[in-house]
Amino acid sequence: MEGDKVDPAEVSLVNKMIRLALKRTTSEIEVVRRDPNSPLFSVKTFEELCLKPELLMGVYGMGFNRPSTIQEKALPLMLAQPPQNLIAQSQSGTGKTAAFSLAVLSHVNSAHKWTQALCIAPTYELALQTGQVIEQMGKHCPEIKLAYALRGNKMVPGKPLQEQIVVGTPGTILDWCKKWKIIDLKKITLFVLDEADVMIATQGHRDQSIRIHRQLSKDCQMLFFSATFEEAVWKFAELIVPDANIIRLRREEETLDNIKQFYVFCGSKEEKFTFLCDLYGSMTVAQAMIFCRTCKTAAWLAANLTKEGHSIALLSGELTVMQRANIIQRFRDGKEKVLVTTNVCSRGIDVEQVSLVVNFDLPVDVDGKADNETYLHRIGRTGRFGKRGFAINMVDSDAGMDVIEQIEIHFGRKIQKLELENVEAIEKDLK
Ligand code: ADP
Repeated sequence: MEGDKVDPAEVSLVNKMIRLALKRTTSEIEVVRRDPNSPLFSVKTFEELCLKPELLMGVYGMGFNRPSTIQEKALPLMLAQPPQNLIAQSQSGTGKTAAFSLAVLSHVNSAHKWTQALCIAPTYELALQTGQVIEQMGKHCPEIKLAYALRGNKMVPGKPLQEQIVVGTPGTILDWCKKWKIIDLKKITLFVLDEADVMIATQGHRDQSIRIHRQLSKDCQMLFFSATFEEAVWKFAELIVPDANIIRLRREEETLDNIKQFYVFCGSKEEKFTFLCDLYGSMTVAQAMIFCRTCKTAAWLAANLTKEGHSIALLSGELTVMQRANIIQRFRDGKEKVLVTTNVCSRGIDVEQVSLVVNFDLPVDVDGKADNETYLHRIGRTGRFGKRGFAINMVDSDAGMDVIEQIEIHFGRKIQKLELENVEAIEKDLK
């Protein structure tokens, strides 16, 4: 088990803070239509969506030239008449927020002075981020107003809101609807549930979302977004979104095709450290991430590598969101070439350009068996966009060799023993 815990909402926020541009992706998009006979529209330009000119200006003003892969398919669906429900899943940074922001802005009728669109997000900060995107995109539509249903925002009880759009967290939204009676859920015609995977990580949020959802009218359009889609998210989606169209952007790292995997036997922590020092040249040719099992080992390793004069970034659990975002930003800018972390700390955080991943500790579950999913998450960062990546697994026991074998079997890929000449070849390849 990992040595520390990180809140998924914080991970998501860090991603948003560090993401200034669309993530490039070569992933395949998968669309499941509710009505397989109706034609599937896809747009290559924003013009094709026949948006209000002020809204189009807002989109271009944000520097968007054309729709992202997920937007190509999701936007025509979200804007279709009669309204259609959508479940969409794609990694963070692929344009989901921008997509539903556009849908929300295009949906509301500015002549109507009541709340028509409701967007719920898991935390204060995430709701704020989303609201800001909507505000920025809608900046040429001054008659469309947005309110933040967030703790601390005091409202006059019983005086209905005039803002057409409300973005907030489930608890405050419930208060605004039930306690203060300033939003009439029956008048909501578009409901967006963002970051569903983060939402369900908190039981209270999940239940509150369901309570809000229950009060909505039958023909309210539902949009449901998630960066991941494990079983629990699907279950939640089925509750919230009846008759949904589904759009999924598969993660490109679902295959390990571009990644050369090695293992090296090092009997102790110290031996691993020495080996890493030898490898340092290769690691800094491009960029490397080193995964440790616990925060303590990560801190120990980072301190020792630093003592050797290496320039290391350490991402650990006790940092604030801002500190984490700073460290990742510096790493992404190449200020440090090596990032030491634990799986928990870096899970879901987007660090691209990594060509080498080192498993200082192999990922195992509580029973000491290979944790294949974690393995994939870790090494799946390498070898993006057709470039080759490398993974080096440090093995310190016979049990570790068993784990390597289990991983080989699971993925059907060979993990080679790392020899000196491989190190040279890796270095050459990374250049
Ligand atoms: P997600 O919600 O999937 O994490 P976002 O909508 O936040 O993704 O988009 C990620 C980044 O890409 C943001 O900085 C956003 O401004 C930018 N972006 C979104 N759509 C486009 C587009 N069509 N063209 C260019 N940049 C875009």
